[in-house]
Amino acid sequence: MTTSIRTRIAPSPTGFLHLGTARTALYSWAFARHHGGEFVLRIEDTDVARSTQDSVEQILAAMKWLDLQYDEGPVYQMQRLDRYKAVVDQMLAAGTAYLCYCTPEDLDRMKNEQEARGEKRRYDGTWRPLPGKTLPAVPHGVKPVVRFANPVDGDVTWDDLVKGPITIGNKEIDDLIIVRDDGVPTYNFAVVVDDWDMRITHVFRGDEHINNTPWQINMFRALGAALPRFGHLPIILGDDGLKLSKRRGAVSVTDYADNGYLPEGMNNYLARLGWSHGDDELFTLEQMVSWFDGSHLNKSPAQWDPAKLLWVNAHHMKQAGDARLATLVVAQLKKRGIDADADAAMAARCALLKDRCQTTVELADWIAMFFAAPAPAPADIDQHVTDAAKTALRTLREKLETAAWDKAGIAAAMKETLTAHGLKMPQLAIPLRVIVCGRAQTPAIDALLALFEREVVLDRLRTV
Ligand code: GLU
Repeated sequence: MTTSIRTRIAPSPTGFLHLGTARTALYSWAFARHHGGEFVLRIEDTDVARSTQDSVEQILAAMKWLDLQYDEGPVYQMQRLDRYKAVVDQMLAAGTAYLCYCTPEDLDRMKNEQEARGEKRRYDGTWRPLPGKTLPAVPHGVKPVVRFANPVDGDVTWDDLVKGPITIGNKEIDDLIIVRDDGVPTYNFAVVVDDWDMRITHVFRGDEHINNTPWQINMFRALGAALPRFGHLPIILGDDGLKLSKRRGAVSVTDYADNGYLPEGMNNYLARLGWSHGDDELFTLEQMVSWFDGSHLNKSPAQWDPAKLLWVNAHHMKQAGDARLATLVVAQLKKRGIDADADAAMAARCALLKDRCQTTVELADWIAMFFAAPAPAPADIDQHVTDAAKTALRTLREKLETAAWDKAGIAAAMKETLTAHGLKMPQLAIPLRVIVCGRAQTPAIDALLALFEREVVLDRLRTV
């Protein structure tokens, strides 16, 4: 029987969903989908002091926006404490874990002595039971932690899906605390129990976790659990070459949603930020799923490139359905205090303007002109709205009062006005744009005007 592929994303709810985590989620999801497997969402909330419900909600909202649907979850670690306790008891009984009564002062002393001897800081095994060893007397009033009895010899080796073979000697690592003195398990232990229980076959995560992996592999072995494959994805650097962080721009997925990016644009961009499929730069999620088999993952850090993200998003703006864009633009307009409907007229405006917009915010910038009086730049007025233009605009206004209100009707009214005043098209079209739309450049003005209410256009022309 073949094992079905199961992946997971395991964010800690100590903040918004970081772009790096979103990329890991996308890869884990796509890998599971590619293999017809399953994808699990687990909320790693054992850091009680830093975990918040607000973060959980932000993570769920971001996953929903990215449309990375999970087959199981969200599973909350804090709801699994009984299970962790049962596993710890089993490990204590088997001797693969032990109680340690060292106080913070003991550990400080240990550290100072090790430093004085020029040694690496590590737990010295005071409470580790060994054959023939007498343990210290259990001190009064000290709550023990539980430590994992890490193998003392040998190496831990795994063939990382991203980085290739990695070997770390057990001598390099000490006996990790797996349950704190308040009874809450630590990350490295809970993650192993969960990945085991959830039958996770492939773990993708950020490479800041590479140092944790040897402990985790040793614990899988101590538990007799099947080992997943691990793939550690390199860090994402900001466009300044430093670690992408909140201080240097948006790192939260939902910020990009608010700023008018499309989820398919974000997914496409994140996909390429650490993985490639030949020279393909622009693709759909379905294409990614069909290609994403875990190969061609980059070993070196990717650099966040806001201009490229915009370029990718612009492509997906062009592909997006007009009715959907209308809904997104209406939401953006609402934030500006403009109440509009996502109706057929709005969809028609999106159809005409989306090709020149990289985000729905930019699209809303354009579409706001249908609802709010324009504020043309004085320089545009001086340059384009000349006396001759004003006279022609008045003629045009009269003609537009009765013209058929569609592209052809408006084009005919403009042509008659040009003939009547002996002007060339730009001499009328540009001032018309400045007065009605507030900008000197727009798509074909006859098509654009047809998307306004006739009265709005006439009112704006009356200001001339
Ligand atoms: N909670 C960990 C994190 O957010 C997950 C690490 C893992 O995937 O194992 O970094």
